[in-house]
Amino acid sequence: MSSDAGQDSLPDPDVGKGIQYWASQPASYDGVLGGFGNGSLPRVDALGSRQLLMHLLPELCTVPSAVRPLHVPEDLANRRTRALDVGAGVGRVTADVLLHLFSDVVLVEPVDIFVNQALRRGKASEDPSSADKAYLPANGATEINDLEVVPWKGIADKSKSVTFIQATLQDFDPAHPAAVPEKAKVLGRVGYIPPVDDLDSKFDVVWCQWCLGALNDADLVAFFRRSKAALRDPARGLIVVKENTCSEEGFPRAVFDESDSSLTRSDLAWKECFTNAGLKLIYEQTQGGFPEHLYPVKMYALR
Ligand code: SAH
Repeated sequence: MSSDAGQDSLPDPDVGKGIQYWASQPASYDGVLGGFGNGSLPRVDALGSRQLLMHLLPELCTVPSAVRPLHVPEDLANRRTRALDVGAGVGRVTADVLLHLFSDVVLVEPVDIFVNQALRRGKASEDPSSADKAYLPANGATEINDLEVVPWKGIADKSKSVTFIQATLQDFDPAHPAAVPEKAKVLGRVGYIPPVDDLDSKFDVVWCQWCLGALNDADLVAFFRRSKAALRDPARGLIVVKENTCSEEGFPRAVFDESDSSLTRSDLAWKECFTNAGLKLIYEQTQGGFPEHLYPVKMYALR
């Protein structure tokens, strides 16, 4: 069936088929980026994401710079900051974006080989003197993006932490990540260990990148609502959606991709889901610098 023959007849993503597809891909940047892991894309992507976060939450910038406010309120300056990375793959966004700006990251990913690869890299980062091999993908990928072999920031010195959870977004509640152990399995934590368990302490930013197409509209809206309820400070926290957008002509539209059983939504289709979830669009921007023939990638910041 033609994917957009009629929007009413679009199939819903099938969670099992999606996971099966991803489980057949290499556990590497190239695998999670559909073959774009070894060029400039990972670097351009991470830079665009970090710039967006520093623009919207300048207090996250911890080194002297033009974006850092001169006076950060003490309660903001002295607390640990927390980010959630969902549909996180092998931990690319955690490593190259979030650990540069936040104290504690919780990484959620359903596919065994991906979440275990992320955990392996996190553990290897605790001891950066361990063999370089420890950073390489387990399943023998030969071409490695150089970003993939850098130890994760703040893990060896235990100033930062990453907690690894295996779950689908359909099953995951960001406000209570470990509430249902059969559905969301906590696999481990690397780096900083807090004196009191902090897993239920909500987030400053929920980052969703290249994974929300695995959810149908109802599941997506429900996930957004749970994410909104998991923002620590409802007036400052942000949900960031960084996703492909398909074309449209004045109406919301989506394209179904058989290969990974996912939906690519148009700009208006994303915005319809945001509105239905009670989210307010704070900022939107198209990621520049990606190859022209790819779907345009948009970043939406919401709360
Ligand atoms: N966000 C990461 C990975 C993108 S690849 C990055 O930008 O590098 C897409 C990811 O979505 C894969 O890791 C895949 O396993 C994950 N995914 C697929 N179905 C999912 C679901 N139902 N819930 C959560 N994640 C899912």
